[in-house]
Amino acid sequence: MRLASALALTAVLFVMNAMPQTPAELAELWEREHVVKKPASSLRVKDVIEQAEALRKLGIRVNEVGRSVADRPIFQAEWGRGPLKVFMWSQMHGDEPTATPVLFDMLTIFHNNRDKEWVKQIEEKITLRVVPMLNPDGAELFIRRNLQGIDINRDAVDLKTPEGRLLKSLRDAWQPEIGFNLHNQNYLTTVGQTDKQAAISFLVVFGDEAKTLTPGHERNMRLVAAMYQALNQFIPGNIGRYGDEWTPTAFGDNFSAWGTPTILIETGGLHGRDEFYLAKMNFVAFVTALRALADGGEARFSPTTYEVIPRNSSRRIFYFIFRGATLIERGQPDAGKPADIGVNIERRRAGLSTPGFVRSVGDLKSTAGLEEFDVSGYNVIGRFNPVRSGAFADLLFYKKGRQVNWSSAELETEFPPDAIFSLGKWLKGGEDIPRIKR
Ligand SMILES: [Zn+2]
Repeated sequence: MRLASALALTAVLFVMNAMPQTPAELAELWEREHVVKKPASSLRVKDVIEQAEALRKLGIRVNEVGRSVADRPIFQAEWGRGPLKVFMWSQMHGDEPTATPVLFDMLTIFHNNRDKEWVKQIEEKITLRVVPMLNPDGAELFIRRNLQGIDINRDAVDLKTPEGRLLKSLRDAWQPEIGFNLHNQNYLTTVGQTDKQAAISFLVVFGDEAKTLTPGHERNMRLVAAMYQALNQFIPGNIGRYGDEWTPTAFGDNFSAWGTPTILIETGGLHGRDEFYLAKMNFVAFVTALRALADGGEARFSPTTYEVIPRNSSRRIFYFIFRGATLIERGQPDAGKPADIGVNIERRRAGLSTPGFVRSVGDLKSTAGLEEFDVSGYNVIGRFNPVRSGAFADLLFYKKGRQVNWSSAELETEFPPDAIFSLGKWLKGGEDIPRIKR
């Protein structure tokens, strides 16, 4: 290669290296280099200990900073050496895991790409401290609260939990300028007046009931605008704004009041996409915010972009809707009546069965389901209990016209159903039930 072309190539490579990554490139980077290979919901404390050790081996500062009620370790990792102090914590609710692996992924990816200009810039401008899995006891049991049965996110004032006391002491000792409070919201949370799931919701948390706007809150609005714009390329219509009622006992609100204006990020559901996809969305959001802080790019965004993100809504969709069922009650042969059945399932770890519950019986024409079935050709009877709101959604389906003795004590053996729906899935015959396209 001639010297001139070699120099030109070097220049091109240098520019590419220095160029800020696009959201699509950040997503690809995560695809290639993320280190936590288990779904977030299956992570245990031992996995977090393992990941903390892996960071340490890379030379990243990781300390055990506290212990849970059951004496499980809580870690804080630090990356970067810049003047701007950014603090992120995840999984203060034990069954809200999505961000936990992403914090490990992100620090590892920063470390492994520390020769890139955009990463150097973050490293030089920001010091980042992260606490992945603040509630290890809750995470181990996959429950919201800690082992004292206390919601840590309502313990910012009372400080009855060791986890809450730790979180406050980490903030007070370091006085970070920005906080990121990382949670999961209900799978069925929707965006505005639509039937679309809120896969990600943001909130700039104010520090008082009057919602006093400080420069820190305005900066956070611009940061959310940057994250919103980045994510909108992947999940347009699936981004919401979390309710901003002042909660005097919550950590986000108090962090903001104590001088660390905080951004709440809630990961919701995105039907048909797995947990890894949502982890990737978290990664794109976090890195976008950190880059916008490091290169000053946040100044280009307007708080208005944040203010027009549609608010979260709830109770607009069901997980499953069985449309046009004829409901049969045991022992009442002539009681068949038409109804739609709305069924939701509970949040569980990946791979575990999820109990379904009937949440509505009646005319659900104005409501959408993530999955809808046309069961107008079927008589439907509860497997163990009548089909009522609140009951287990274990349903037996019989094609209309079949002779069935609904009073039979051995209904399922004497008259095998054409289809059975149980624990949130079809056990039998589901392939014959027509699906309704949304
Ligand atoms: Zn939460």
